[in-house]
Amino acid sequence: MEQELLQLQAEAVTKLSTLESQKDLEELRVRYLGRKGLFTGLLRQLGKVSAEDRPRLGQLANQIKEELDQKFTARKSELAGSDTGAAIIRDDLSLPGRIAPFGRLHPVTQIMDEVCSIFIDLGFAVAEGPDVELDYYNFEALNIPKHHPARDMHDTFYINDSILLRTHTSPMQIRAMEKERPPLRIIAPGKVYRCDSDITHTPMFHQVEGFLVDRKVSFADLKGILSVFCQKMFDQSDIGLRFRPSFFPFTEPSAEVDIGCVICRGEGCRVCKQTGWLEILGAGMIDPEVLKMVDYDPEEFSGFAFGLGIERIAMLKYGIDDIRLFYENDLRFLKQF
Ligand SMILES: [Zn+2]
Repeated sequence: MEQELLQLQAEAVTKLSTLESQKDLEELRVRYLGRKGLFTGLLRQLGKVSAEDRPRLGQLANQIKEELDQKFTARKSELAGSDTGAAIIRDDLSLPGRIAPFGRLHPVTQIMDEVCSIFIDLGFAVAEGPDVELDYYNFEALNIPKHHPARDMHDTFYINDSILLRTHTSPMQIRAMEKERPPLRIIAPGKVYRCDSDITHTPMFHQVEGFLVDRKVSFADLKGILSVFCQKMFDQSDIGLRFRPSFFPFTEPSAEVDIGCVICRGEGCRVCKQTGWLEILGAGMIDPEVLKMVDYDPEEFSGFAFGLGIERIAMLKYGIDDIRLFYENDLRFLKQF
């Protein structure tokens, strides 16, 4: 009898340690400790043992029952934590790995880099200047004196009478020419600010200013450089270019430059308003008055300058019709570039 009790206890403990689900545990408990279980069956035989052995065996049986109860309870709480996952969280080496998401450059930055690299290939150096600019560099040295009507076109954010947020990247022409003598071939990319906001304007946007000063620079050189740039930028070797007479205080003559519509290739569409042309930048020969401001002799040197809007190019290149999409930081939009 004693032997049987101890054996039954050992069996139950071994099985308890190998089972892995609550369901198996419950089955095991019923089989050993249930009303019709093995242990209860043994207790019934207690009546048949001799009277002198009975108290000792009874005590042993109670002790074993108590220990088994405790072991079942402990095992039950162990399994409760892992039951749901136990079967699932086995490593499945055939599953594809989880790839960490890659970051990428903002579309405006990508276009800016592309514009710069085209001009760098053409021999231009890159110069950067301050966003917070003196009125002198932003206007006066560029032949836009105080009270000049051209100032009205700029919707300027003034900080005080002589300091402002630059309204274009053209001040870099003056800053660069003050420092060096010709020949100069420079592009100046950066942020500019205007008090303006709608679907084609944001208060902050990006420009690239470019200029070249040397002896005997002509309008033909300007046309050549801009043609190569547009061909490369829009990946179209026969892209049409059109120069319309215009006015900027710091260039003379001045032109607004159109390219053949990259969407319809000149057929006429919504983007080009059925004209077949898209305005892309402003340009011209640097005004002799500007050259005089930096002590260059206009009789000896001449140059051209141009300025283009990065967002405008990005919108044309990707067919985007609302500039504000660039600044809403919507990942669904940004992930496409
Ligand atoms: Zn078109």
